[in-house]
Amino acid sequence: MEVTLWGTRGSLATPGPETARYGGNTSCVGVYGRKGTVVVLDAGTGIRRLAAALDTSVRRIDILLTHLHMDHIQGLGFFAPLYRPDVEVGIWGPASSKLSLRERLMRYLSPPLFPVSLRELPCAMTLHEVPCEDVDIGEFRVSSALVCHPGPTVGYRIVDGEDKVLTYLPDHEPALGAVEFPSLPREWTSGGFLAAEADLLIHDSQYSAQEYAGHIGWGHSSLRQTLDFAKLSDVKHLVPFHHDPGHSGGSDRTRKANLSRNAGAGRGNVRDLGSRLLSSRHAVVRLLFLVPAHAGSCVSQADSREVESDPAFSQGRV
Ligand SMILES: [Zn+2]
Ligand SMILES: [Zn+2]
Repeated sequence: MEVTLWGTRGSLATPGPETARYGGNTSCVGVYGRKGTVVVLDAGTGIRRLAAALDTSVRRIDILLTHLHMDHIQGLGFFAPLYRPDVEVGIWGPASSKLSLRERLMRYLSPPLFPVSLRELPCAMTLHEVPCEDVDIGEFRVSSALVCHPGPTVGYRIVDGEDKVLTYLPDHEPALGAVEFPSLPREWTSGGFLAAEADLLIHDSQYSAQEYAGHIGWGHSSLRQTLDFAKLSDVKHLVPFHHDPGHSGGSDRTRKANLSRNAGAGRGNVRDLGSRLLSSRHAVVRLLFLVPAHAGSCVSQADSREVESDPAFSQGRV
């Protein structure tokens, strides 16, 4: 599978020179199968550029929403394939205890918040409520589970035909309520089942440790907690995601550099995590894996170059 990050910012779109390094668009990730399957993870403002880059021959697209906070659905009404009658669009997302997924989406996709109503969209749309049993979407097998975040929120685990695993947990606070994190086995940790031994984990890392102390219960993680979660889950590669709107590229680099300098403090850093930290530099970071011969080397070469030459993990395109 090929994974492209089109929006990595959390909470609020934040365009400007300060956020150019990691991008200002909110959550949106494209997952592309070798046989043509297109899955879109969340519909933040990054989805507009994803649509612009799609081949016009694509006739089916599945959008997997983790939850319906505004930063994850704001781009939905601007997703061009919704206006094409020759395209099938499946939208997957959680209902609430009172409202169906359709009713929840219509709160946004209807006047006065949006001029076009959900039922007026010309594409062939189907809605699916999650979490549900494992489902096959094209060449991918998709699992979903509720995770720790305010309101009904799920994470996704996507497995392709060659058993490569992508886990997506953009808004996630697995450390909530823990005196020390992690203190429980991953089976008892929010998101642990979804992330177990994933080839690539995309995970919430909104705060610094100092910031997290003032935002406990807001549903997000510090970068330190994300690294500990990645280690607990034994993932191979990690992309910190959902950057705080107040963080510039420089501050994110500093946080990563500080973690690197703290190696040997007894809790491990990225090098002894058993996982590799990949930078979500720019709005688009391309990770190629699964293509025999050069996919794995693409990640490992770019990744090792990044880690070894720049402790701030700021350079290198993967
Ligand atoms: Zn969010
Ligand atoms: Zn959220």
